[in-house]
Amino acid sequence: MSEKANTGRTTGNNLDPWYHHYAQRTAGLSASEVRALFAVASRPEVVSLAGGMPFVSALPQDLVTDSLNRVMRDLGPTALQYGSGQGVPALREQILEVMALEGIQGSADDVIVTTGSQHALELVTKLFIDPGDVVLAEGPSYVTAMVVFNSFQAEVDHVPMDEWGLIPEALREHIASLKAAGKTIKFLYTIPNFHNPAGVTLSWERRLEILEIAKQNDILVLEDNPYGLLYFDGPPPQALRSVESDGVVYLGTFSKTLAPGFRVGWALAPHAIREKLILANEAAILCPSSFSQLVISEYLKNADWKGQINTFRGVYRERKETMLSALSEHLPELSWTNPTGGFYVWLTLPAHLDSKAMLPRAVTELVAYTPGTAFYADGGGRQNIRLSFCYPTPESIRVGVRRLATVINGELDL
Ligand code: PMP
Repeated sequence: MSEKANTGRTTGNNLDPWYHHYAQRTAGLSASEVRALFAVASRPEVVSLAGGMPFVSALPQDLVTDSLNRVMRDLGPTALQYGSGQGVPALREQILEVMALEGIQGSADDVIVTTGSQHALELVTKLFIDPGDVVLAEGPSYVTAMVVFNSFQAEVDHVPMDEWGLIPEALREHIASLKAAGKTIKFLYTIPNFHNPAGVTLSWERRLEILEIAKQNDILVLEDNPYGLLYFDGPPPQALRSVESDGVVYLGTFSKTLAPGFRVGWALAPHAIREKLILANEAAILCPSSFSQLVISEYLKNADWKGQINTFRGVYRERKETMLSALSEHLPELSWTNPTGGFYVWLTLPAHLDSKAMLPRAVTELVAYTPGTAFYADGGGRQNIRLSFCYPTPESIRVGVRRLATVINGELDL
């Protein structure tokens, strides 16, 4: 069996007749722990604190239906046709208004509309990563970004974070030791606001310091910001892209502020990169969905979208508060992050418990979570759990946390 045949498998299952044929880069394409969980967690009796699904039912359907009807009435043939590989010009202008809320000024020329920001992650990775290149990322980091990095055979190097986000001093040290080892670092992937999964937000001072470090070391910053507008009290510090335009690719999405079913996200690229990004977009999908883009454009033009985002904030704030008070009640001896926005709480277990090993027991107790190991490329995270409060109702959250406490306390008694 050749080395290629060994490394190019996707599932480890050699009953697959194509097992020996897959490209080597597919070795990293194993079903993520999150994905494998969805099947189990979707049973109605299980309270799932695992997935990151937005609570789309908080979006009044008639707002969307009105936009959809207007698009079909006024722009039907355009909506049903191929469009620009860069995205609908009117929507790109409106995206500038959305980003202005986070302090970003840019040109619609540098906005590329993608099929969700997940797709933008793939395009940027495709543009920059050769096998063996290093991507710096927070430890922990967003699981499906790491699936993309792996699929281009990048090495992910996790830089530690604390309650104020990525630690600049650690970033300096990691860059120095990677360089000393002769590695090529291509970009820093960061989620500065209401981090997925850690739930923390990067402080303003650290944003400036990290941009400085990236500049000194000629490292591109990939700023992934799906949750920034979903704050609970006040807005987070302004975007990294608001300070630095040449060294930052900013990724945004309508998935959390509107609905993921549209599959519309975007990249705001440095001018030098935009052309290649558009070509990569065209190569992958010809053009983003005209239909989805026009419906969103119409929605942004006619609906009170800022008011709607405010409604989402209220829904998620209540769910977060419910989760934290349930944790205080049932697991007072543990520690967890207190997110000021977004969807996630990061829980730390007593040192000898293993979140991955404990999961089957949790599912037996009818509660699901995502083990911390899903968010590390290097096997870390055994002592952590990501809890999502975005989708379950407050009542389910209370039940879910109570069940989780039964599992954890049961493990401690063993
Ligand atoms: N980045 C992060 C950090 C996310 O949490 C998600 C969705 N869970 C995405 C990107 C992808 O979002 P979408 O493709 O729906 O825009």
